[in-house]
Amino acid sequence: MFFNNLNIIQFGLLLLQGSTTFAKHISSRTCNNCSCAIAETLGPKLSAGASCSYSTAAAPRWSEFDAPDPGLVVNVATESDVLITVQYCNENNISFLAQNGGHGWGQTFHLGLEGLLINLGGLNSTTFNADKTEATIQGGALVRSVVDAAYSNGAQIPTGNCNCVGALGAILGGGFGRLMGLYGLGVDNLLSLNVVTAAGTQLTVTPETEEELWWALRGAGPNFGIVTSATITSYPVTTAENGAWVGSWIFTEDQIEDVVEAVNDLDLLPEMAVFLYYAVSDGTPVVLVSGSYAGANNSDGPNAFASITAVGPVVEEAAWSPFDEVNASGDSFCAKGGYKPAYGAGLAQLVPATWRSIWNEFVDFIAINGTSASTVMVDCYPMEKTRTLPDSSSSYPWRSTINCNAAVIPWYDDASLNAAAVSFGKSVRSLWYETSGTATNATYINYAVGDEPYSVVYGDNLATLETLKGVWDPTGKFDQFFPL
Ligand SMILES: Cc1cc2nc3c(=O)[nH]c(=O)nc-3n(C[C@H](O)[C@H](O)[C@H](O)COP(=O)(O)OP(=O)(O)OC[C@H]3O[C@@H](n4cnc5c(N)ncnc54)[C@H](O)[C@@H]3O)c2cc1C
Repeated sequence: MFFNNLNIIQFGLLLLQGSTTFAKHISSRTCNNCSCAIAETLGPKLSAGASCSYSTAAAPRWSEFDAPDPGLVVNVATESDVLITVQYCNENNISFLAQNGGHGWGQTFHLGLEGLLINLGGLNSTTFNADKTEATIQGGALVRSVVDAAYSNGAQIPTGNCNCVGALGAILGGGFGRLMGLYGLGVDNLLSLNVVTAAGTQLTVTPETEEELWWALRGAGPNFGIVTSATITSYPVTTAENGAWVGSWIFTEDQIEDVVEAVNDLDLLPEMAVFLYYAVSDGTPVVLVSGSYAGANNSDGPNAFASITAVGPVVEEAAWSPFDEVNASGDSFCAKGGYKPAYGAGLAQLVPATWRSIWNEFVDFIAINGTSASTVMVDCYPMEKTRTLPDSSSSYPWRSTINCNAAVIPWYDDASLNAAAVSFGKSVRSLWYETSGTATNATYINYAVGDEPYSVVYGDNLATLETLKGVWDPTGKFDQFFPL
């Protein structure tokens, strides 16, 4: 698919190097004394499949910029391991952070050598009820494994669009994806959540059992607990319908205004999603549009994107794929490591003049050696289904406000470029803010950074969320991701 042609740096996934079972937990590796002591006393309490390591190689992050730097990584194997680890941390006053896909780009992480990372990666199953209308996703499952499980069970589950992202990591902030025009936000499809709370208890949270916590978890999840598994609506579909047509079109710089206008004016049917990128292809900055149309392999997809192709792309690729292959076109975005201080903004509209200014900023930045993997992107979705529920239905605050999530991703390996990258990111974000079409600045939490006023992330829900934080996490155990 198209992204394989882009000049995006590829990093191999780090393997489970440095990991050691608890039975022989103290290896010859260097570790600080505190970490070794934790491993010795916590290890015997955990399941046989759990392991620990003194490096994050077992839990690589998408970006090293401001990444957590824990003294110990606990690789849990059961949901009870999470509970036991949180209880242990509470008893011993140890900071902790759960990690799922490791793609959170917020700059609010501050876990240091005295802290413990709970790597949820071992909790990666997705199971279904008999008629495939409900699925239970464990807390460390990646989008790839959820999509694969859904496809092989003749069903669809609303997930994010990138295979490598934590499925629940994305959903607990709201959950945008290419199927949301059909099924709504990820949070709208949740049925129950198994949660380890800050107090070190295991709860099954539903609208009936804990109404307020249920509301808070669905939009501000990482502030209220570790979700060890979630039951979510799954949608049985025939094999013929379980796929999507995806078109990718490259345009040149002189077409920016026409392309942006066409994307902004596109009539987004429920089956559709549209993505616009600035990227570097074969050494040249280009404008790329990608359109997705879920359903059977017929002419609906090409017809739906006719206004985009009418602009006159210089390169065009289109194909229908079964749903377990659709996300593959974004796999190059999944590359771990390097520095990617991303900045995001929620948009109600795309304004051509703004995107011209952003193009100029982009071209200036990628002129710096080693930055050609950088990108600017925006994802736009049909919002009607999402807006059948009121704003008050979950703590995700922007369902009636945002149509598109935009992000600028400076991408490089040389830390000396950090200052230039941050300046570029903030500058692009300012341009978006100026013409966002929203009454106030409004950013999907999973695209935010943490330097915004928290009203930009939590909207009018901020005060209620702060009150609930006082109830459910009064001492701020979950204080790493846009902490309330
Ligand atoms: C390449 C890329 C593609 C993306 N695509 C999409 C997309 O299509 N749709 C979308 O909505 N978002 C998307 N995002 C944004 C994504 O939702 C956020 O980056 C999200 O925070 C990533 O979750 P993670 O589990 O991968 O990251 P992590 O860094 O592991 O987690 C982020 C935060 O969530 C918490 N968390 C994760 N899992 C759990 C859990 N089970 N219980 C409690 N807390 C948990 C962590 O503790 C951490 O605080 C994308 C991001 C990237 C980098």
